[in-house]
Amino acid sequence: MATILELYRVDYWKYRAEGNANIVLQYIGPHSRFRNTVLRLRKADRLDDSRTGLEGTNFGDNTLTMKNLTKESLFATEVIGLLLGQQFVEQLIAVALPPGFLSSLALAMEPSRPESRRQKGIDMAQSVGFLALDHTRFIKPSPGQSDVAVEIKPKWGFLTKSAFLRKNQDIKRRKCRFCMYQHQKLKIGQEGGLSKYCPIDLFSGTELMVHDALDSLVDTPQNNLRLFVDGIQHPVSRESTTQCFSELATSTSPQPQEQQQKRKSKWMEGDDHLDYEEDDSGPVRLTEVLTQILIESPLLRRLGRLQQALDSLDVETIHRLYTNLLEHDFSLTEPTVEEFLGTAEAFMDRTDMDEMMTEDQETFETHNASGLGFEPEDDLDDLPESLKLHFIREFLLSATLKDCSVLVTIKRDTSAAAGAMTANTTSSSRLEVDTGSPEFHEACHRIKVKEEMFMYKITCIDLDPKKMTSVPMYLEKDRTIVKHYLATVGDREATCGAN
Ligand SMILES: [Zn+2]
Repeated sequence: MATILELYRVDYWKYRAEGNANIVLQYIGPHSRFRNTVLRLRKADRLDDSRTGLEGTNFGDNTLTMKNLTKESLFATEVIGLLLGQQFVEQLIAVALPPGFLSSLALAMEPSRPESRRQKGIDMAQSVGFLALDHTRFIKPSPGQSDVAVEIKPKWGFLTKSAFLRKNQDIKRRKCRFCMYQHQKLKIGQEGGLSKYCPIDLFSGTELMVHDALDSLVDTPQNNLRLFVDGIQHPVSRESTTQCFSELATSTSPQPQEQQQKRKSKWMEGDDHLDYEEDDSGPVRLTEVLTQILIESPLLRRLGRLQQALDSLDVETIHRLYTNLLEHDFSLTEPTVEEFLGTAEAFMDRTDMDEMMTEDQETFETHNASGLGFEPEDDLDDLPESLKLHFIREFLLSATLKDCSVLVTIKRDTSAAAGAMTANTTSSSRLEVDTGSPEFHEACHRIKVKEEMFMYKITCIDLDPKKMTSVPMYLEKDRTIVKHYLATVGDREATCGAN
């Protein structure tokens, strides 16, 4: 674990974003080697603020805390890296958080945090945070070029085909979890309207459907789409996603430079009343570039298939295995990184990844079901305890993959070399933040969209381990969502992904 003294000043950090589990701060201090880094801190319920006192005593010497922290960083790189591919997984460098620094940070960031997220605060019990590469930007800046980044929270990319599904849950074969959950969110007032987005379209690999899904995300981003330009978050709208590339247009832009500059400043001021072209003749739009990237990159397909393969039994059966273990006084402790790794390895042993990536949906599902080694008719209570545990852990790995985000960072490639380069070439950059610490690295790919060259990188973030003790909560949530959907909408809508 690194102790990097230059990092410990509150005014070097600026609030960036947060989810339910973590808060992300952006480095804005003077040291250029951290220019491209962010600090990830864990969040906890406000009720746990009593733990504040632990911060000082914990520093550097609490074995349990250290174990948990190692778990957090190794889980993403080792366990999820094995499944998804290391090249897609965010690297994390553990850094010590000196006493006092964390509480000062928490105090300084509070005014920038959205009201809706404030039921949780920065976890004062953590003595270690994680430095990560700021994936909204490239390591190497290109003069005159903006880095545009899109953070997509794609959610569940499959309709379950599990033979273990209960009959009254049959709707799950036709409507995806995200679409059904929208109605529940509306009921509890979590969202003001239904999202137009359906993950099945985004994960389809079909150009038209992927593009439609991205347009829907732009129209109703909720918390599933964020846009960053040079590391700064911008509101998502048709205007902003159209402008951010016409923005970058240089040699190929038909606009006079002066007019372009004027549009740029208007947009930066948040003027939403800009004209933009929706037809194919206009400048390349962000959604067009993103569509091509998401189809070219194997990440989404891999993510969707893994989510489904690791959730072969459905939450109903997982919960049954869980209660069965409890009934037999089996102690259900949270899995260690090694145990999760063992689960991932066993899954990989029974799965041919190349096949999984290339076979059609039906063949994949058949393979998947036969790989389990048992059927719904078998008495699952007779399964060895180790196997019950194994499938619960597989389900937890799937839960992590259903909850992660995908960051795609793009810039127009106008370098002199770009003309000579063909699409599909890759290059990599490295960043060393501290002597002795691991280096950050990024792989950049080239892609041609409408005769223009772009550079992109694609990374999976927010890969936190899920808890065994959450299984009852997962079941309850699933049942509530399905019940509410059937009561309010019923089984009359088109199957997700079918239109
Ligand atoms: Zn859907």
